[in-house]
Formats: sequence, C-alpha cells, structure tokens
Amino acid sequence: MREIRKSEKLNGVSYDVRGPVLDAAMKLEAEGEKILKLNVGNPGAFAFNAPDSVLHAVSDNIIRSQGYSDSKGQIDGREAIAAYAKEKGIEGVRVEDVYTGNGVSELIMTCMQALLNPGDEILIPAPDYPLWTGAAKLAGGTPVHYICDESSDWMPDMADMRSKVTAKTKAIVIINPNNPTGAIYGVDILQQIVDLAREHDLIIFSDEIYDRLLMDGLTHTSIASLAPDLFVVTMNGLSKSHMIAGFRIGWMCLSGNKAIAQDYIAGLNLLSSMRLCSNVPAQSVITAALNDRKETVAYCQPGGRLYEQRKAVVEGVKAIDGMSMVTPRAAFYSFPKLDAKRFNITDDEKFALDFLREKHVLIVNGRGFNWPTPDHFRIVYLPQAELLTEAMLRLKEFLADYRQA
Ligand code: PLP
Repeated sequence: MREIRKSEKLNGVSYDVRGPVLDAAMKLEAEGEKILKLNVGNPGAFAFNAPDSVLHAVSDNIIRSQGYSDSKGQIDGREAIAAYAKEKGIEGVRVEDVYTGNGVSELIMTCMQALLNPGDEILIPAPDYPLWTGAAKLAGGTPVHYICDESSDWMPDMADMRSKVTAKTKAIVIINPNNPTGAIYGVDILQQIVDLAREHDLIIFSDEIYDRLLMDGLTHTSIASLAPDLFVVTMNGLSKSHMIAGFRIGWMCLSGNKAIAQDYIAGLNLLSSMRLCSNVPAQSVITAALNDRKETVAYCQPGGRLYEQRKAVVEGVKAIDGMSMVTPRAAFYSFPKLDAKRFNITDDEKFALDFLREKHVLIVNGRGFNWPTPDHFRIVYLPQAELLTEAMLRLKEFLADYRQA
C-alpha cells in the first residue's frame, strides 16, 4: 500500500516544546516513574483554579451557548474586550475590530495564514513562544529572529532588529510580557520598536497574553497605545490570567491605521468565518473574567503562589555553580543560563534528556524557543514551591559532575 505522508507544507515546521524530550518523559511515566514537570504553562495542571465568578459565568450561560455565535464572537464579550483595550490606552478599538479565538493560538495561525506569501519575512523574537515561528513557516513565510539581549534584562536588541529589516519584511512580532524570559518591556524600548515599524511601514503583532501577571509593582504598556498611526494587532486571552487554558478563549484587537489594511482585514474575516466561531461557552466568561482580576493580582504579590514559586526558582539557581538567571518579572517562566563551556554542553536537547533520565525532571531546552546557542532552558514555575525547590536541588546534584561527551 502507498505510504501516507504529511503535507510538504509541514517541512521545516517545528514545535520542540512538544518534541523528543516530552516523548521520553511520557515513556518513563508509562514505565511507572514519577516525573517532575517544569515544562508546560498549563495552570490547571498545577491545582490553580479559575475564579468562582468565571466558573459561574459558564454555568449561568450554558443554555444560551449552544449555537454558533457571530464568527468574531458574541457582542457582550467583544464589548468587554474593546473596553479593556481602551483601559490599556489603545484608542479606536470598536466591537467590529475584536475577534475571539480558540485561544490566542488559533488567532496567531489565522493572522499568519492571512498575511504571508512565500518569501515574505516576519521579525520574531529569539527566544520566542515557538508557535509564532511555526505558524509563520506553515503560512509560507520566512521567520527572521531578532535577539533579545540577556545582558539588558532580555529586552529586544534594537540594533539586531533593525539590521534584520529588509524590503521583504512585513511585520514585527513582540511577546510582551515574554514567554520564556518573563521580561516586561518598558515604554522606551516599545517606542523604539514603533519608530522602526513606522520607518519601514511594518505591521506590529503584540502578544500580550501575560499582561495581567505582573510582579514587583511593574505595569504593562500595550505597544498599540504608542502607535495610533500604525496598523497593530494586539492579542490577549484568559488561559493564563484566569487559569482556564482548557476553555480555549483568546482574542485580538485591530487598532490604528485600519484603512491601509482593508484587504488584510477581509482575509482575516474570511478565515474567521471559515472556522465558524470560537468556543461559545468560553466566550460567555469574558465579561466576568475581565471584571474579576483580584485573584490574578494576588498570585503575583508577596505571599501569592506565583510570587513565592518564582522565589524558589531564583534561590535554587543562585545556589548552583555554573548557572545564572535574569529574574523574571511577569508570567510564570524563567530562562536560566548554563555555563556551556564549564559543562561542555554542545547539544541542549541532550542536556534536557540526560537530566530527565537521571533526575526525572522535565524541562524544555532553549532550542525549543528558537534560541540559537545550547546554553539555556526554560523552567515553568507553576508547580508548588516545595516541588520547585526539590527540582532545583536535583539540578544542582546533576550538574555537580555533568560534562557532555
Ligand atoms: N502566546 C504566548 C506567549 C503563550 O505563552 C501561549 C501559551 O503558552 C499562547 C500565546 C497560547 O495561548 P492560548 O492559545 O491558550 O490562548
């Protein structure tokens, strides 16, 4: 019989956060081993619960959630999202400029499919949330990575970004707050990105799914609020801030110069209609969720789970010779550095596999986030602080005599 092969569209598309290291962990689990999982940003898997107001909103609305909604989503939820955009200083977002999606993930795919032709380039951060790179490639475009600079608290390296703009560049993607670094971008760097986009007529895509998970008294600025004259797509959702990743609810707002983007918007509308609509029971919680942010805020304050769990990781890394880390300021990720010379690490996937097999701790190596050198990995600090402390101790023991052959 003829072999069944995947489409050539998928050649070169990778999503290593779900790659061979995870497969090895699942195999170990199937053999009865207990794995400490620091690999995935899924709050529901670590005994985080949605606020009661959100859970009630689903049950109260379940009867009216049985049919398809408008392809962009129900009006009341989109009104709440438009009001949230206004609160963030993004002017001119009307209800028709708001699209709900089955998570931000679906909207990333939609935006890339609607935009990119073969050869078109799009600037994406390194490290990145790798769906952006995968979606751009799948759409036929060419992701071009600009470096975020660890020595500047993981801010985008503007000289690098600028040097990578070509006549084929269509857009700049920023992830702010950032997964995997936990960085929050200040107004100054955002303004420089806006200036570059303005100079070269580039679209800005801003993934702001972590904008309500901020620590250390920091605030978040939406880049769209600084760019009322450019076409900006701002993405956000409830998977993380309201711990309902399984509900699949995200959104995007179009702002700024929509007149120049009419054809692209027609493409977005077409793709939005083709998937009919996003999950309707999940849409019905948007208003309640955006009105109830106190639990999210509390998680990030001293004494709150995310704050204390971050502390466990920061202290754990500090105690390990040959490791360093920029303290994350938002979300629940950190991206520590290994002294690759000292440990002779030339293959970061091998490092992750070796650590998993010896200590039964699962992390994702930096290559999974399109990081170019084998000297970083991501820790998700959603597990309870005791488990994180245990994981860090195992890492310390593991590294004490680890040298890659
Ligand atoms: N964007 C970023 C930066 C993420 O980290 C994630 C998930 O981890 C997503 C988007 C996707 O989120 P969802 O599809 O659950 O809305």
